[in-house]
Amino acid sequence: MKIDAAALKSKGFFEQVQKGVFSLRLCVSGGMVSTEFLKKAIEIAENHGNGQIHVTTRQQIEIPFIPAEKIEAVQQVLHEAAIKTFIGGPRMRSVSACFGAAVCKFGKIDTRALAQAVCDKHFGQELPAKLKIAVTGCKNNCARVEANDIGIRGANQGYILYFGGCFGHEPQIGKTIIPALPKQEDVLHALEKTLDFFTRNAAKGERLGKLLGRVGVDELKKILEQSI
Ligand code: SF4
Repeated sequence: MKIDAAALKSKGFFEQVQKGVFSLRLCVSGGMVSTEFLKKAIEIAENHGNGQIHVTTRQQIEIPFIPAEKIEAVQQVLHEAAIKTFIGGPRMRSVSACFGAAVCKFGKIDTRALAQAVCDKHFGQELPAKLKIAVTGCKNNCARVEANDIGIRGANQGYILYFGGCFGHEPQIGKTIIPALPKQEDVLHALEKTLDFFTRNAAKGERLGKLLGRVGVDELKKILEQSI
């Protein structure tokens, strides 16, 4: 059986260290899934994997040990259940979030509503490099937002945005460059402006933090201040 690992990767199937065996990444936005979603994940893991499910550090769900010959059957289950798979490469990734104000008594903002709104608008968007966003409900920062390309934290004044963070082999801490934004729609607008700035200015593979380190934060700051 001929396997096109690159094509499968773009559909959420990542080849494992074991040749011809794949781990399926499902897209989870805002760190919350329905029991129906989980039941389907369990069904796939039991019928096509090895009965195990992995939860990634960014709240995604991964089903390992799927042999190549079972991928078509798995895709059929995903299609019928309308479950999105993870999208890798130079694109907008899914948004992680803590419980936020809908559940947690410390929450200042509805983190999951914002995460969903961002995913609905931008998930999978082509960009110069991958871009990760996290949303956290208060200063306790359970979602560790400064370790993301764009982090959003709830506060009494509204939404505080952090730009240019990342983890991996060259970690950087995201920084605030504009005052807190009062409304969710302001955040969505600021994100749109930032993604546009990123697309116009970043070199291929250059993360937002690297770009800001190279060109400085002034232009992005000006664009955001003018658009608020
Ligand atoms: S960051 Fe705040 S709102 Fe979010 S889960 Fe932690 S304590 Fe709750």
